[in-house]
Amino acid sequence: MSVEARIKLATCSLAGCFGCHMSLLDVDEGLLALIERIAFDRSPLTDRKHCAPQVDLGLVEGGVGNLENVEVLREFRRCCRCLVAVGSCAITGGVPAVRNRYSLKECLDEAYVDAIGLYQPGIPNDPELPLLLNTVRPIHELVKVDHVLPGCPPPAEAFRELICALFEGREPALSCELRRFD
Ligand code: SF4
Repeated sequence: MSVEARIKLATCSLAGCFGCHMSLLDVDEGLLALIERIAFDRSPLTDRKHCAPQVDLGLVEGGVGNLENVEVLREFRRCCRCLVAVGSCAITGGVPAVRNRYSLKECLDEAYVDAIGLYQPGIPNDPELPLLLNTVRPIHELVKVDHVLPGCPPPAEAFRELICALFEGREPALSCELRRFD
């Protein structure tokens, strides 16, 4: 299959742990079969920093926890025909959103000022660091989402079904077993 005929797939990790990406790679031999039909665009797998203008499928892992996450997510929405919230963090904020119960100052103090055994206590303030938002937010609060893949992480089979459905121009058919929230 020519590169032009392949489906363009982009992925990113916002406030997440890359566990969802690992589950995508767990498609294993199935991924090898799909790889013939996929051209990876922006992704940690390609290390490209920006999306091409017309990507067919964008998979977003992680919630929105800082200003860089906001920019990346908005670029994905602009460029991706179909945007999927992958995993609990993207869908609800997930584990990173546990910090929402505390103020940002309390979180930073706990991590960088009050923690026992710090070599040089002090909140990092390098201008290169993206500014944290006061709360971690699910991606649907900032952009339109076309599909969700629940789970922490979603099972590999759910990724395979999603990608195959796109190839075949149909809605993904996720059985109860593939709609896990644990
Ligand atoms: Fe990691 Fe789970 Fe969040 Fe995926 S949903 S990024 S596996 S914590």
